[in-house]
Amino acid sequence: MNVSPLPSAAGLAGVVDEHLRWIGQWHRAAFFNHGDGVVLPIPTAFPAWVRGASGSELADQPAIDRLIALHDQMHRMARLVHMRANDGQPPTLPAYEAVIEKFDEFMVLLRRIERAFSVAGSGIDPLTGLRNRTGLREEMEREVNRYRRTGRPFCIALCDLDKFKSVNDSYGHEAGDRVLMAASGAVNQGIRSFDEAFRLGGEEILILLKDATLSDGYAVVERLRQDMEAMSVAIGGGRSIRFTASFGLAEARPDSDPEDLVAEADAALYTAKRQGRNQVVRAAPPPAPGA
Ligand code: GH3
Ligand code: MG
Ligand code: MG
Repeated sequence: MNVSPLPSAAGLAGVVDEHLRWIGQWHRAAFFNHGDGVVLPIPTAFPAWVRGASGSELADQPAIDRLIALHDQMHRMARLVHMRANDGQPPTLPAYEAVIEKFDEFMVLLRRIERAFSVAGSGIDPLTGLRNRTGLREEMEREVNRYRRTGRPFCIALCDLDKFKSVNDSYGHEAGDRVLMAASGAVNQGIRSFDEAFRLGGEEILILLKDATLSDGYAVVERLRQDMEAMSVAIGGGRSIRFTASFGLAEARPDSDPEDLVAEADAALYTAKRQGRNQVVRAAPPPAPGA
């Protein structure tokens, strides 16, 4: 599991500004500089932002892949028009319109992602309505402190949808998004009112089960697993699909470090996947002190 922070929306605002300037320069070069051999500046804000995003789970997001592809296509087409203009040939209408179409598509998606990140900065994941990882650490530290004060433990469950890539591959990303929303809805409904759920990124959800022993936590999470298994998700065109998820569950100890506890849940999740998915696996209890 990756716990690196999300790159900021501010970086994307810079990408918008840079491309607005660039398209103006491209227009002038394409229409008014025939044969002058004008060299267009190459925008650098977007590649820099992508470099910053790689390594975070953000690089997995289908919308980011789409944005990168649009960016490449747009610049490739624009470069061809510009090279012809430098040879003294004004752009044909179809070639011009193809660039503008890509530019529009790129800007629309860029702005949508930028908006989503601004919302994400507020702590809520826009697709699922779950909390994002902002505040996760503080929330876990609060639970560790409560545990030390009261002697009552808490649990962490990691949930990961099974074979989710094949849902996207078989039915498309929109269907994948609907499954993700349905799974998140099940989590929102199925956890107790004082529990918290965070979308860690992709199709991974962390559930903080407050004031819960391993068997309390197991009861909640096993019911969630069954709820998901029983769901049928409408994906348009009168079709619906089923899905399942795997869970790793770990109980905190008074001296638990939040990162270690997440790693324990992650290892249990890995076991659940290896044992055939669609199941809840409890992390092995740690050795007793002095054992
Ligand atoms: P496993 O059972 O081992 O977990 O298999 P998997 O296919 O679910 O695992 P993997 O991590 O390989 O695939 C996760 C996929 O989730 C890859 C990525 O394209 C997709 N994904 C991540 N975020 C989103 C999203 O917001 N929407 C959609 N539709 N797909 C997403
Ligand atoms: Mg998965
Ligand atoms: Mg995954």
